[in-house]
Amino acid sequence: MTARLLDALVPCHCLHCFALEPGSMRLGLCSACRCRLEPVESADRVACELCGRALHGRRSRAFPLCLPCRGRSSPIDRLFAAWSYQAPLDDVIRALKFGDLAYLGGHLGDALAESLPTDLTVDAVVPVPLHWRRSWSRGYNQAAEIARALAGARDWPLRSVLRRRRPTPPQSGLDRTSRRRNLRWAFAVQRKATRSALRAQRLLLIDDVYTTGATAEAAARALKKAGVRWVGLAVAGRTPRFRG
Ligand SMILES: [Zn+2]
Ligand SMILES: [Zn+2]
Repeated sequence: MTARLLDALVPCHCLHCFALEPGSMRLGLCSACRCRLEPVESADRVACELCGRALHGRRSRAFPLCLPCRGRSSPIDRLFAAWSYQAPLDDVIRALKFGDLAYLGGHLGDALAESLPTDLTVDAVVPVPLHWRRSWSRGYNQAAEIARALAGARDWPLRSVLRRRRPTPPQSGLDRTSRRRNLRWAFAVQRKATRSALRAQRLLLIDDVYTTGATAEAAARALKKAGVRWVGLAVAGRTPRFRG
């Protein structure tokens, strides 16, 4: 609340270029830097529905996936990524995760809600959980901050039905196979979320960034195991590193 009030009253500097701008700065970025955010999908760019890789040519109803995704099975049924994870979005995510600026999660959640298809319907929004130890030391879970705003903007229930069974070492620096091994059995459905309540549901998982998809796939697998019918994943950033 205080952060939002200060945000509205005090001119703040842009998280990327440090320019000062009066009033509230959406996403913590000045208007020039906000224009530099690169949407994963645009009028002239279509992306694979499973991994967000840029597709060459037009995506059709018959071929919504890139070649590697056509041959693999994934517990995630559809990926919705707002922007490419590069400057200036990386500064926003870093400030959200490590700069104690939890309110940025609200800004990202609102923007992500706007970027989702208007005809998308889900039964609930589920944040990818942090292990309680990391969440405790950070003071919040950035995915939950994004999820809360998104759920509010689209009028969907927020249900934190997943828990992290064990702390996993940081994923950065690991290749795809090591990431998957690192995350095996990392997630479980909360005991209070009974399987009968999850059966046949359509849930939208929320995370801040999609890199290889290993984290979100491990979370989605736990949901599918509990009987969830359809799992979408909405993220603010999709790293371009694994594209192509
Ligand atoms: Zn700026
Ligand atoms: Zn793909």
